[in-house]
Amino acid sequence: MERRQSTARRVNPRRPYVISARGLKRIILGAEEGSRDLLLSHHAAARKQLRTTQPFERHMLVLVHADRGMLDEHARQAIAAAALLADGATGVVVAVLGGTTADLGECGADAVFNLPQLDALRFCPEQALALAQALIARYRPAHIFVPDRGADGDLGRRLAARTGRTVATDVVELDADGACRLVPGGRFARCALPQIVLLARHAADADLPFIGHGVVEEGGVPETLQPGVRDLGLETSSPDQIGLEEADFILSGGNGMRDMDTFGALAKALGAATGASRVAVDDGRFPRAKQIGATGKTVQASAYLALGISGAVQHLQGIKDCRHVIAVNLDDSAPIVKRANLTLVEDAQALMGALLRQVEAARAAASA
Ligand SMILES: Cc1cc2nc3c(=O)[nH]c(=O)nc-3n(C[C@H](O)[C@H](O)[C@H](O)COP(=O)(O)OP(=O)(O)OC[C@H]3O[C@@H](n4cnc5c(N)ncnc54)[C@H](O)[C@@H]3O)c2cc1C
Repeated sequence: MERRQSTARRVNPRRPYVISARGLKRIILGAEEGSRDLLLSHHAAARKQLRTTQPFERHMLVLVHADRGMLDEHARQAIAAAALLADGATGVVVAVLGGTTADLGECGADAVFNLPQLDALRFCPEQALALAQALIARYRPAHIFVPDRGADGDLGRRLAARTGRTVATDVVELDADGACRLVPGGRFARCALPQIVLLARHAADADLPFIGHGVVEEGGVPETLQPGVRDLGLETSSPDQIGLEEADFILSGGNGMRDMDTFGALAKALGAATGASRVAVDDGRFPRAKQIGATGKTVQASAYLALGISGAVQHLQGIKDCRHVIAVNLDDSAPIVKRANLTLVEDAQALMGALLRQVEAARAAASA
C-alpha cells in the first residue's frame, strides 16, 4: 500500500501553554513541547516596562480602602486611571486604608502608603480626612482619584466639603485631553477634570500596559481625636440580607447541585450569599431573585463558587465582573472552565460535604 506524507503543517495537540492572569489557557504558537527556553522568552516578552523613569515633579493621589488586605477591581481601576492620565514627570501616590501586601506597582502605583489602622470596618472619618490632608500637604496633587462607592465615596465627598476642592461624582469616562463624563442623577454631563474625581466602576481598565515603581512608603497616620463620633462597632447580618449585587462571596448552585440542605449549611458556614442558575430557579429550588445571568442579577463578588453550573453564555454574562471564579463540575470541558480561575472536576455533593466538614473542623479548632 502506498503511504503518502502530507506537507501541510499540523498543530501539535500537546504543544505547551501558559495560564494567563485571567485563567485562560494561552497556547504558545510555534513552540516545541517542553521547550523551556521558549516558555521563558514568552514570559520575558510579557514583562511590562516602567511607566516612567523620569524624576517626579508633580503627583496625583489615589485614596482606596482595602478589603481584608485585598484591593478589588474598582480600587485597581482608580489607581490605573491616575497612572493613565499621569505624564512622565507625575508620580502616582496611593494611600491604602486598611493596608495591603499586594504589589501595587502592577496597578500603576509609584508610591504606596499602607494604613492598616484605617480599615473599612472602623468608622473613623476624621482620621481618614486628616491622613488625606497630610498627603495633600506633602504631595500637592493636582487631582485626587477615589472609587465612588461605600467608604471611599464617603471619604471623597467629605474631603471635597472640608477642603473646598472641586469634585465630580459618578465619573464614567476620562478623556486624555483632561475632561471627564459623568452621570449625576442618571443624566450625562461633561466637565473639565476636577480636583477630586469620584470614579464609577469601569471608568478605566486596570490591565495596564506598564507598571509603576510600587515603592512602599513608611508614613505615620496623624493621630486626631474623633469629635462627636463614637464607633459602636459592627453588627453582623446574614449575607442573604444584602443584595446579591453587593455580595462579596457567592455560593451558586446549578442543575448539577442537588443537595439543598448541605448547600444551605455550607453557605451559612462560609458566610456566603447564595445565587443560582436559571435552570435551578426554573425547577423551583431557588427563588427567582437568586437568578444570576442575563435575565437575572449581575454580580461582582470577589469570589464566586459555581457548583454544578455549566457556564452558558447567559449565566457568564451575570458573573463577568467577578474577580475569582471557582467552578465545581464533573465535566472538565464545560464552558465555565474557560471562565474559571480554578476548576475542581468533582461531584458537587461530595465537594460540598467535604468542604463543610473542613470549615467546621477549622472553626472548632480556632475556638478551642
Ligand atoms: C433568553 C435566555 C436567557 C437566559 N438567561 C439566563 C440567566 O439569566 N441565567 C442563567 O443561569 N441561565 C440563563 N439562561 C439559560 C442558560 O442558557 C442555561 O440553560 C442555564 O444557565 C443552564 O443552567 P445550568 O448550568 O445550571 O444547567 P445545565 O446546563 O444542565 O448544566 C449543569 C452542569 O452541571 C454539571 N454537573 C452535573 N452533575 C454534576 C455533579 N453531580 N457535580 C458537579 N457538576 C455536575 C454538568 O456537567 C453541567 O455542566 C437563559 C437562556 C435564554 C435562552
